[in-house]
Amino acid sequence: MHLRKRILITGGSGFLGSHLCERLLSEGHEVVCVDNFFCSSKSNIAHLLGNPYFELIRHDVTFPLYIEVDEIYNLACPASPIHYQTDPVQTTKTSVHGAINMLGLAKRTRAKIFQASTSEVYGDPKIHPQEESYWGNVNPIGLRACYDEGKRCAETLFFDYHRQHKLRIKVARIFNTYGPRMHPNDGRVVSNFIVQALKGEPLTVYGDGSQTRSFCFVSDLIEAFVRFMNTPDEVTGPVNLGNPGEFTILELAEQVIRMTGSKSKIDFRPLPTDDPTQRKPNITKAREILGWEPKIPLHDGLARTIVYFEEIVRNGF
Ligand code: NAD
Ligand code: UDP
Ligand code: UDP
Repeated sequence: MHLRKRILITGGSGFLGSHLCERLLSEGHEVVCVDNFFCSSKSNIAHLLGNPYFELIRHDVTFPLYIEVDEIYNLACPASPIHYQTDPVQTTKTSVHGAINMLGLAKRTRAKIFQASTSEVYGDPKIHPQEESYWGNVNPIGLRACYDEGKRCAETLFFDYHRQHKLRIKVARIFNTYGPRMHPNDGRVVSNFIVQALKGEPLTVYGDGSQTRSFCFVSDLIEAFVRFMNTPDEVTGPVNLGNPGEFTILELAEQVIRMTGSKSKIDFRPLPTDDPTQRKPNITKAREILGWEPKIPLHDGLARTIVYFEEIVRNGF
């Protein structure tokens, strides 16, 4: 018999959150979406508002929340450098106080709780590709620290609540993910390049473009979230989730120009401080415990993302 669960998604109106809301509703669950709209708009979830199994609560996770739920996906946090550096103190509070409140909620309701951690816990990594046993190389006082250290502290809290209060936790370290509903102005590289190419503007490559990233298409990532949440209780993570295909930023720029048929040129700009030089997940653990690996190659994911942004560029955001 199918068991309908009530599932809380914090940051549920964001890029990943909105796809997760859709996925869990399609499985017949009740979804409570909590968001303070700090870096998203209702447009991502507007189409869900009429669904009787969907509920939206405007709420900032740095404040306590008392509701009854069976599972929690904690995604609330500004995720792009432009957004998380706008109010860095609030970024750390969102990760740390947000984690404490959601863990407190999980403790009271005995809900299972998933944390959207990040590859940024590895900082500018000294080992490549990154595996979960690596402790990372993070500058604790730099411009990215509010995000990186906030997420690291949240992981600490998750594991201490697990050890101290026997909470059922699932900690995922997410690598760069892209797809429809990325915010067009949040400065992330895939959205920037596609929008620039579609507008015929120069593509802004930071540094010489030799730094690497590994890009996962959103549907692959959401599949991994749900599989991870459904693993046995002893599986806590942390587990890397991402696509191990590694590309230089210059290669990405050239591919976007080719695929959009754009006449845009490349404009080299200064490299932001503490920008990691290379990043690629080792996903052996995810393969083993989730029986999962990404299916959508960069070319296909970019094609679907370009279709989304064509509409945005045509009609405005
Ligand atoms: P996003 O910015 O689209 O979504 C984050 C959401 O959190 C937004 O809707 C925002 O309004 C909300 N939010 C921010 N502060 C809040 C607060 N105090 N209270 C309530 N809501 C708040 O980003 P995303 O890409 O969907 O990322 C979702 C999660 O996944 C984040 O925790 C992010 O750190 C993590 N993550 C994402 C990626 C990626 O590549 N997209 C990579 C690693 C980790
Ligand atoms: N909390 C919450 N919802 C709940 C239960 C707790 O938001 O349903 C918050 C509350 O603000 C508390 C925090 O979670 O401060 C941590 O809860 P916990 O029970 O671990 O700690 P305590 O209440 O003992 O400080
Ligand atoms: N980047 C770039 N041009 C842009 C935006 C980003 O060259 O317009 C680079 C950025 O310096 C970084 C990579 O692309 O090396 C990924 O940046 P993003 O902000 O998307 O993610 P993160 O740095 O958090 O991995």
